[in-house]
Amino acid sequence: MDNNPIVNNSDMNEAHRAQLLKIIHQKELQNEICSRAELAKMTGLTQASITKIVASLIESGIVLETGIIKGSGNRRAIGLKLNSEKNCVIGVKFSRYMYTVGMFDISGKFYEQTEVEFDITDDPIIVLKDIKKLIREYLDKNENVVAIGMAVPGPYLKNEGHIAVVSHMKSWHDVNFLKEFENEFDKPFFIEQDANAGAMAEWWFGNHKKPMNTLAYFLMGEGVGSGIVENEKLLFGKQGAASEVGHISIDYRGPRCECGNYGCLELYCSTRVMLARAKEALPSIFTDKKHKRIDDYDVIFEAARKGDGAILDIMKEMAQYIAYGCVTLINAYNPDIIVIGDVISKAGDILLPQIKRIVEERTIPELFSQVDIMMSELSVDPTLYGAAAIATDRVLGKPSEYLTAK
Ligand SMILES: [Zn+2]
Repeated sequence: MDNNPIVNNSDMNEAHRAQLLKIIHQKELQNEICSRAELAKMTGLTQASITKIVASLIESGIVLETGIIKGSGNRRAIGLKLNSEKNCVIGVKFSRYMYTVGMFDISGKFYEQTEVEFDITDDPIIVLKDIKKLIREYLDKNENVVAIGMAVPGPYLKNEGHIAVVSHMKSWHDVNFLKEFENEFDKPFFIEQDANAGAMAEWWFGNHKKPMNTLAYFLMGEGVGSGIVENEKLLFGKQGAASEVGHISIDYRGPRCECGNYGCLELYCSTRVMLARAKEALPSIFTDKKHKRIDDYDVIFEAARKGDGAILDIMKEMAQYIAYGCVTLINAYNPDIIVIGDVISKAGDILLPQIKRIVEERTIPELFSQVDIMMSELSVDPTLYGAAAIATDRVLGKPSEYLTAK
């Protein structure tokens, strides 16, 4: 047992500060403002303790008083909210063909983003330099940035700092993201696997039915992965690579995957595969050579909407594979909700009814009846949003370390 009373006291205070900040944050996400009396009721702490802790949070510039609100029992109370404008976070999404840097504040408000496409064969050293340059430009624009969060493709080994397998990006295997970024800026820098980041964004900003126990985020883009949040906490496993649904085999006699397994889901339904198949089946629709990759996906979805038979066949198969992934997620995690995000979320009208039908056929009815399957409806890419959400989560968890008065 730790018998140093000073350490214990300050740890206790820090835990309480973090607890109050998270409650205020959650309330704000639900468009509610809370008072000191409500905080006392929700935490079980005395009014006197709450008053003291809130005073320290106001003094540090993290919390603001908003004026009089209607408190419990219709009594008037002073509302509290996060001083969001003065506490911003930068989110960075790194994917197989593009990186995006975005500005948010700790209440989740989105300000702006910049997307840059790169070539998969480009030298990682040059791409990393460009990413750092763009982050620095964002830092120069806003003096209120308190932290930076970055999302990278999984399976990402958290403690070692590198991605275990990046399909079709072998040159990136040796890049140590922690070494590259952790001490590069004078701000705390947090790195998370992309589907985990998306899962956090959906949990916090997805406007899903609450209370919710388990959310599964199914990332369906150039990579295929999933992130699981259970009661506000991400599921990591030992090395941070839990719930890699993209590397679950759907055909043990299938082609060899870079991970070592055979017939991994990702080999059949990543959007890379979809794009390659569409280009082969119907090259005539990809007329604009200057198209960004992201626009090529829109071309495919438009062709499907117009009823092009060859593209519809490809989409039908995509729906099947995505449904198999959903069935696996249901059997593995019994989630309240599966949110399908990334590139594929733009094709919900084409894919979702088929996905649901197949999942229903292949899932235990009692489980199927309790799970919602939907496409992400966030206006910002969940992975980018999630990178910012991860940074926010970490700084709110240790306010004295990361959010001291500037
Ligand atoms: Zn694999």
